[in-house]
Amino acid sequence: RTVYVNGEYLPETEAKVSIFDRGFLMADGVYEVTSVLDGKLIDFEGHALRLQRSLDELDMRNPISSEDLLEVHRELVRLNGIDEGMIYLQITRGAPGDRDFVFPDPETTDPTIVLFTQNKPGLADNPAAKQGIKVISIEDIRWGRRDIKTVQLLYPSMGKMMAKKAGADDAWMVEDGVVTEGTSNNAYIVKGNRIITRSLSQSILHGITRAAVLRFAREAQMEVEERDFTIAEAQEADEAFVTSASTFVMPVVEIDGVALGGGVPGRVAPRLREIYLDESRKAAI
Ligand code: PMP
Repeated sequence: RTVYVNGEYLPETEAKVSIFDRGFLMADGVYEVTSVLDGKLIDFEGHALRLQRSLDELDMRNPISSEDLLEVHRELVRLNGIDEGMIYLQITRGAPGDRDFVFPDPETTDPTIVLFTQNKPGLADNPAAKQGIKVISIEDIRWGRRDIKTVQLLYPSMGKMMAKKAGADDAWMVEDGVVTEGTSNNAYIVKGNRIITRSLSQSILHGITRAAVLRFAREAQMEVEERDFTIAEAQEADEAFVTSASTFVMPVVEIDGVALGGGVPGRVAPRLREIYLDESRKAAI
């Protein structure tokens, strides 16, 4: 596999990053994941805009222009022959000569930028989307700036392990009695023709897929309500689902052992998945 590191395309075995890199030492970095369908990028612009926002919030310099970033994405897709899969992008504050809590001078320390591809045939035609997934609820003990897409993913990773141990597929996180989001996705419930999801704030990541799915839902005359909901309300809903760049729209059929809609996906989530995939394919670049 060919990867991209600080301006160079290299075989993955030759790619190197300093042990002093603040991404490695302090999780001082941000990332994006963009899906590839039919060899094309889904929602590239949305991811590039959110990347810039994450960098701005952390006072980190963007080492690459949006045009060059698009070019690198496309070149990696081409070099690695990706038809369906993902592109991972990470920018960290770089590697000053020492470990220090104080941010290094941006004049003397360049950010580190890394991109690599993941080949995932069957991403769109995912059997899990036909079956639906099971989630458990866990307490949300992450930091308070979840709107910044940092590489600080230890707790989400632990959440997935807790889910796995409980025989589930993923976890929904709960804070002050209401659901924030999934470990790596935004969470929704459906009541009749109404889609309910938490409103945007610093408490959740502003999902690129979320924005697209809510737009498509409104265009399809579904009602969208952006508000908090509890696990108890979710367990009584007609349907539930999650969205992310790599899973698109994924039905949720069980929450803390309680089956929704008889334990099979309902009408709304699969329909939204279909609309999302159709429209995203059309708009892909
Ligand atoms: N919330 C969290 C915590 C996430 O990690 C992700 C995916 N990275 C999302 C939501 C979904 O965001 P997107 O649709 O942009 O992939």
